[in-house]
Formats: sequence, structure tokens, C-alpha cells
Amino acid sequence: MPPPVLSLLDRPAQYLKGVGPRRAEALARLGVHSARDLLLHIPRRYEDASTVQRIGSVQVGTDATVIGEVVSQGVLPTRSGLRIFQAVLRDGSGLIEVAWPGQPFLDRSIHKGDLLLVAGPVKFFHGRQIQPREHVVLGRADEGATAAGKVLPIYPATEGLSQRMLRALLETNLDGLLAAAEAEEVFSPAQLRSAGVPPLRDALEELHRPTSVKRAERGRRRLAYEEAFFLQLLHARAHRQAASERASAGGGIAFRRTDELIGLLYRRLPFALTEAQTGALREIFADMTSPRRMNRLLQGDVGSGKTVVALFALLLAIENGCQAALMAPTEILAEQHARTLAALLEGLPVQVTLLTGSLGAAERRAALASIASGRAPLVVGTHALIQEGVQFRKLGVAVVDEQHRFGVRQRMALAEQGAAPDVLVMSATPIPRSLALTLYGDLDLTVLDELPPGRRRIKTALRDEAARARAYDFIREQVAAGRQAYVVYPLVEESEKVDLRAATQEFERLSRNVFPELRLGLIHGQMPADEKDATMRAFVAGEIAVLVSTTVIEVGIDVANATVMLVEHAERFGLSQLHQLRGRVGRGADESYCILIASGDEESNRRLGVFVSTDDGFAIARADLHLRGMGDFFGARQHGLPDFRFWDPEKDEDLLLLAREQARALVELDPDLSQPEHRPFAEVLRARYAERERLYEVG
Ligand code: ADP
Ligand code: MG
Repeated sequence: MPPPVLSLLDRPAQYLKGVGPRRAEALARLGVHSARDLLLHIPRRYEDASTVQRIGSVQVGTDATVIGEVVSQGVLPTRSGLRIFQAVLRDGSGLIEVAWPGQPFLDRSIHKGDLLLVAGPVKFFHGRQIQPREHVVLGRADEGATAAGKVLPIYPATEGLSQRMLRALLETNLDGLLAAAEAEEVFSPAQLRSAGVPPLRDALEELHRPTSVKRAERGRRRLAYEEAFFLQLLHARAHRQAASERASAGGGIAFRRTDELIGLLYRRLPFALTEAQTGALREIFADMTSPRRMNRLLQGDVGSGKTVVALFALLLAIENGCQAALMAPTEILAEQHARTLAALLEGLPVQVTLLTGSLGAAERRAALASIASGRAPLVVGTHALIQEGVQFRKLGVAVVDEQHRFGVRQRMALAEQGAAPDVLVMSATPIPRSLALTLYGDLDLTVLDELPPGRRRIKTALRDEAARARAYDFIREQVAAGRQAYVVYPLVEESEKVDLRAATQEFERLSRNVFPELRLGLIHGQMPADEKDATMRAFVAGEIAVLVSTTVIEVGIDVANATVMLVEHAERFGLSQLHQLRGRVGRGADESYCILIASGDEESNRRLGVFVSTDDGFAIARADLHLRGMGDFFGARQHGLPDFRFWDPEKDEDLLLLAREQARALVELDPDLSQPEHRPFAEVLRARYAERERLYEVG
């Protein structure tokens, strides 16, 4: 057992050399509360001779990173009232001007004699000028803040705690911290070798005192591997625990293919299944006909046809005399599913029962009774399905749609219904396979990577504000031709800081000034659910021509008559979010359009350009992840997203796959992690992942 002593690394940051109460406060703003946090406060990037250019060789029209001494600086007023902070930098090869329009306050933090790193596009403006995306004050030039040939770590810094201070702080404390880290190594040399990563101590030294950018990257990979390994270990244990509980509950149900209902549906479908759908069904049926319980994620882009696949799974359970359930995140989606399924089931002897929160008391009682007696073979509903009082007679399969809108616990709750139903969860958020494995490591994965044939591309255009009036005219034409449109805004009730057109305000304006002759509807996140649903229903019924909304409509809504998606402030959305929004049109036979109005900078236009140029959800997701990082990619929508600090979905897929394999093997061998050499793993899980372990507790 590791002794319960407090490691040096667990001491509050304030006890570090060079840290007083003031600095401790600044460190806390960076998330550094303990000595360990400081050690893990790794540079966000590195600069060396291969990335830093000599000032004399910087070319107009390129992007450059330079380091130079500030030889003069000051604020320039301009005729337009804009105040520009300017500095001139010098290195051994020449001088260059750097300008920060609208940031006169930099006068207080960038001084003559500072050594400054700047990175950004080089323009021509009375000479070469850099307009920095980023700048870092490295220290005082005369203190020898850098030496040629050195690798320079660039840390996330904050007000009151500069790069220079951070680097000094780390330098002062590093040896002691590294020694403490060495004592905390959890991996055996063999395991480190298998992953091709250095021991913890060396990794941290390479990160903080890099001898080359490559070695620093090796250090980061070590931390990434550790993160991936423990997360996969967590998943593997959850997987195993769930499996053993299923086994003790009599295992899964081994369904038999009678093809009574499935054959009927197959013959009646108005289309042929895609190869991807057929493949998915093969995997799902294999799970369902085995005595093992299914726990599978079906991931497919918007419109890839997940619902039909789900229906086949539901029918397999039903033709075996079991009940089947489909859970959706909102009432609208549940109703929509109920309608869709009922239509697909026309002519089949299977009735759909709807169970949502808005049923009247009598309806609800009736629904609950037929669910309990088994007379309701197919139940579609919302969270209402997992609430008190819902008792299936024999639930054989549970399908959860748009699974990222539910927590792990809710997903489990449905699975707890009845004996041991097979579970299929569906997601339209196309994410790279490696990331899916990470997020849903306790699930098996099926990907629908093909759209049904004959899908037309949605005409997508990126426009600036000046084009808004024309976009409105276009909506008017479409509505005159009998179609409907969405107008989407990023947020409701924006702060004063950012001048966004909040949906409520814009709704007023659009209703009064722009489309006075049309019926408009408004939905946003702060609205009560029943009001939202009423408006949505009116839109589905065609009573509303233009639906103004925030992103609450983004998932799943299917209105075939809607042909225009106008997105305001598109630069504020993630690409994957835009992809979901675009997927709301083009669902009928008519040509459909997605118009992005954006007022971002060049970089955000480039990003949106990626979106305009492709309709491949996976490509878009990859670009999104690449451009924004994981936190922003998922935003607040994702439940249970592990906060990876070091693992990078683009660079570290191999580590993840390895970790997954190792974790599964380990849990096979020693499920409780009770063997002496595995106990440190159990310790780490307890210390770092207690919250997530609870999340995975089943039953
Ligand atoms: P999603 O995966 O986004 O949930 P849906 O299941 O709603 O997609 O399917 C989108 C549309 O495509 C539906 O109208 C559905 O009937 C249709 N569809 C599904 N599979 C096929 C197919 N193989 N061929 C043609 N149309 C299909
Ligand atoms: Mg769907």
C-alpha cells in the first residue's frame, strides 16, 4: 500500500520558493493550486531557431514569429479615434514595427528594453509591420532572457504572473519537484517501453527544460499516455462491471431471428438499405442474438439513416415477444420518432406508444398500464421513460437517440429497466473514431459512414453583413413558393461586451420591419419547455413561415418543407454545430440553402470556408477539433467529457488504442487491481477519477 503521506507535490503552491500570497493568487488564476499543479503547468508551445525568424529576413505577406528587443514604443492616435499601440523590435539582423490597433493599454505592459516575442501576419504599412496574433514578454533584454540556440518554453501566463516569472519560478523549484515526481512513477519500465514514452521525471524535465522541441513533445506524449491509460482503465472496469452485473442478472437475451416482423419491414421499405446500414445491422444482430448483452454506439452523420437501423433492432426484440423502447432528448423529437416509426410500420401489426411528460393523467395511466402488462410492444418517449412508476413487463432492447444529450447515468437507467435489455445508443455528432473510443470506451462502436444515395448537397454560402438584406429577400421568395426558413442566432441576452444580435431582439425587428407580412416564431433556451414545444409544433405544421431561434433547434428536428437555414454571427459557432444546423434543411425534395452571415476576421473566415467546401460531417469534425481544441468542440453540450489536458486526438490516437488494449487486458487479469504491482493504478483512479468512477457505477 502506498503510505498515506502527503507528497511534496500535494503542498499548496504558496509553500514553493518564490511564491507569496500575491503570486499564489495569480497562480490560482492559472489553475495552479499545488506544487503538482505547477509541475503540470506545461508550456503551451516552444520556440526555437526553427520557428523564430530573424527580423531581417521577414517577408511581407507571410506569417512570422520573431524575438527582439523593444527599442521604442508608444500609443499613436489616429484620425478615426482608434488608438494604436506600436513598438519597434530589434534583433541582430534588423528592425521591424509591430502594431496593436485598439490596444493602447499595452503601453503599461510592454516597455522599452523588454525582450518580446511576437507572432502574426506581416503587412506592408510604411514598411514592414507585424500585426500580432500573439505576443509574449520574455523578460528584460539585458538580463539575457534568451540565448541563441536555446529552446524557449512559452507558458500560459496571466496578469501579475508573466512568462519571465513563471520560468524563474519553475527553474527555482524544478529539481525538488522532479525528485518528488520520480517517487510517484506508476508505470513499470516495460510498460513505458511498450508505449515508447519516457519515465515521468524525465518527461517533466523535457517539458520544462527542453533541449529540443522534439524532446519536449516526447515529454508531452508521456503525460498523454498516462491520461489515456487511466481513462481507458476506468472504461474497462465499467465495461466489466456492467458485463458481470448483466451476467448475474441472467446475462443478455439471446434473440432468435424469426424474421416475422423484420422480413415484413424489409419488404415494405420504400428504399434499399445502404451498405453501411446493412453492415451496422449485421453487427447489431450479432450482438442481439448472442447471450452477451449489447452495449453499442451507433454513430452516423445527420441523415445517414439511423432511425431505420434502430427500428430493425426494435423489431427483433418484438418478434421475440419482448418490448422495445426508444428514448429521445426532447418531446418534439420523441413525437417525431413516434410518427416516423408509425409510418414505417404501416401494415405491420406493431403499435407505437408515446410516453412523454406532457401526457394527461388519464393518458399517462393508460400508457403505463399497457407498458406494465406488455400490451405496448414499442414505446417511444423522453426522460419520462426512466422516471418512477414506469415498469416494463419485459424490455428486450432500449435505444437512446442523440445520446450526448443524456448523461451516462440516464443511459444506464433505461438499461436497468427489466431483466437485461440490449442497449443501442445513437449519436449524430460525427467524431473521429479514436475520440469516440475515448468518450464511450465502455461501448462498442458502429459507424454509419455513408449517406443514402441521391442526397442533394445543400447550397452553402458565406456572406458578410452587407448581404443580409439580400438574404432576407431570398427567404421571402422561398416562403412565397411555399417553403419555410430558419434564422439562427448564437445566444440570447448577450452581455454588453459583445455586440451580438440576440434572438429575442432580432425576432422583434424581423417581425416588425423585415417580414411584417409573414408569421414568425421564436424559440430560445430560456423559454419554458411547453412554449418551445408549442412553437416548434406550429413550425412543423407549417403555420409558422420563419422560425427564429438560438441553437436549441440543432438536434434532430425534421421539417421537410424547410429549405433555408440562415445563420447569423456564424463565426461564433463551431463547425460541427453548423453542420448540425445545416442538417435541418435539405430533408425534403426541394433544393435547400444554408447561408452563413459572418463578421469575423480572416482566420474565422478560413475556418468557415472549410465548412462551406464540404458536407462530410467527419471531415468537418476533424477540422473543428483541430482548430478549436476539444473543450470548445464539445462545449457545454457534452456530458461526461473527460478533460484531457495532454492527450491530443490528432497526435495521440496510437497511444489511446494501445492504452485501451492494455487496460482491457489488465482488467481481465486483475479486475480489482488488487495485485501489488497494480495497486498504484487503483490509487490513481481513486485520487484522480473518483467523480467519474461514481458516474460509472451501475445499479
Ligand atoms: P438520422 O441518421 O439523421 O437520424 P434519419 O434516420 O432521420 O437520419 O434518416 C434520414 C432520412 O433518410 C429519412 O427520411 C429516412 O427515411 C431516409 N432514409 C434512411 N435510410 C435510407 C436509405 N437507405 N435510402 C433512402 N433513404 C433513406
Ligand atoms: Mg435521427
